[in-house]
Amino acid sequence: MKIAFFDTKPYDKPYFDKYGEERGVEFKYYETKLNEDTVELASGADGVCVFVNDTVNAAVIDRLSEMGIKLVALRCAGFNNVDMKSAYGRVHVLRVPAYSPYAVAEHAMAMLLTSVRRIHKAYIRTRDFNFSLSGLCGFDLHGKTVGVVGTGKIGRAFINICQGFGMKVLAYDKYPAELAGCEYVSMEELLARSDVISLHCPLTEETYHLIDGEAIEMCKKGVVILNTSRGALIDAEALLSGIKSRKVGAACLDVYEEESELFFEDFSGHILEDDTLARLISMPNVIVTSHQAFLTEEALSNIAEITVDNIVNFLSNKGCKNELCHRCTGSDGCSGTSLG
Ligand code: NAD
Repeated sequence: MKIAFFDTKPYDKPYFDKYGEERGVEFKYYETKLNEDTVELASGADGVCVFVNDTVNAAVIDRLSEMGIKLVALRCAGFNNVDMKSAYGRVHVLRVPAYSPYAVAEHAMAMLLTSVRRIHKAYIRTRDFNFSLSGLCGFDLHGKTVGVVGTGKIGRAFINICQGFGMKVLAYDKYPAELAGCEYVSMEELLARSDVISLHCPLTEETYHLIDGEAIEMCKKGVVILNTSRGALIDAEALLSGIKSRKVGAACLDVYEEESELFFEDFSGHILEDDTLARLISMPNVIVTSHQAFLTEEALSNIAEITVDNIVNFLSNKGCKNELCHRCTGSDGCSGTSLG
């Protein structure tokens, strides 16, 4: 089983080599991302393995089909970078629905604590032997209200952490569940009552720019906005305006709408062309990490193991419970339906 592996990073290889060797999958690693210009590299492979910022649009799917490649193995949960309608009936799309919700939820809390206790400022200060506390006053999370949008695996892990901090939890989900100590409210009410808002829903047509200028207007003054889900859930220009007007107290962003050409690469020493991102990063109350929330040893190991299992099951015709198709909107348990 030969798989062309795109957007390879050094931390991927040890885990994919381990499980690949164990289970008979040979990975050909490419540092480049998959897109219309690089798809030819997959020639001769049984499938492609891609990550969040690879492009699997209609043109790429056309070319994969022409090359006889019927397998796209995502090594991530989100699949907004795949044109599922175009894939339908032509390529099978497999994903890793869960690998460590704790990795992402803990990163969200790490960013929140960093922001509200000004750790990012203190770290730089003390390295310069500046031990002044001036300007570092934060606030307690205990007793504050957090609004969690999307109460799936990661949202729930985040809620548990917040409850451990003594926060009151409001939630909004298209499909509410029964969660102890958690009050489901409308999106409008969540915006109006939350001191902290954390996004954990997928990016869909419905959730695109969920946090826009209008939503920010409805928020409490000083709201802290966390996004560890997908960049385009937030209208970055509107967020920037909200920060400049002091309506938004702080923002913690692990994802950014225009991240695909930037994140995971080293641009130090270059002029950043994206003015919105540059301005956001320049703000003292904005923390940006480059889609790092998943990056723990446990998550990397689980991602590799589940991706290799998906590939082996699919290529040995055993079906794959982690297959997606656009008709069932990607729910778990969709098996073998994308070829109709
Ligand atoms: P999940 O499928 O378990 O949960 C998603 C939840 O969102 C579900 O409860 C669903 O009902 C809800 N939802 C769907 N549409 C909605 C809508 N329109 N409004 C409100 N809620 C809606 O997914 P998960 O594993 O918890 O992951 C959540 C997201 O986190 C993923 O979609 C992915 O984009 C992101 N993610 C980011 C990283 C990272 O490294 N930053 C890593 C993994 C996942």
